Amino acid sequence: MKQPVPEYRLTRRRGQRRIILRVEGDGQVKVSAPPNTATRTIDAFVVSKAAWIAERTALLAEMEPALVPGPQADALRAHMRSDVARLMPLWCARMGVETLPKVTIKIMKSRWGSCNAVRHTISLNLELARRGTDALEYVIVHELAHVFEQNHGPAFYALMDRHLPDWKQRRAHLNTLQR
Ligand SMILES: [Zn+2]
Repeated sequence: MKQPVPEYRLTRRRGQRRIILRVEGDGQVKVSAPPNTATRTIDAFVVSKAAWIAERTALLAEMEPALVPGPQADALRAHMRSDVARLMPLWCARMGVETLPKVTIKIMKSRWGSCNAVRHTISLNLELARRGTDALEYVIVHELAHVFEQNHGPAFYALMDRHLPDWKQRRAHLNTLQR
């Protein structure tokens, strides 16, 4: 019997070499593929991922819904602000960042944080307010490391190893919980 193809939304991208599938936070399956890939090849690919899709969808259903602007987000932001106000000076001192960066806390879709070394600003994903202090601390150290190293090269990871030796565990934990 032919296996049913899970429902998906397809985008064809020029320059892409292989088929990429992801499950969005809302459970939608999105597939992108090179322009001339046959539909049945894409269907077969999606079918081959059916078990993973089901697992991921079930996991998402158990999770708290994604944050939306409103009173809950405001309360979380206020809480996170006080954590950041405590952690940021501490880590700047430890890592030798002389000026405190300007921090913006906002709902971000696909990243935990970002750093603009030139403007000396850091953005943090509000979702971190629900992930515990260890996670927040990991992202703060990561973004502060970008003050010195823009790219994720060996020098960047050497900084992470030096300042936060268990950063890999923290990252793994954070990403298993990621929507
Ligand atoms: Zn980074």
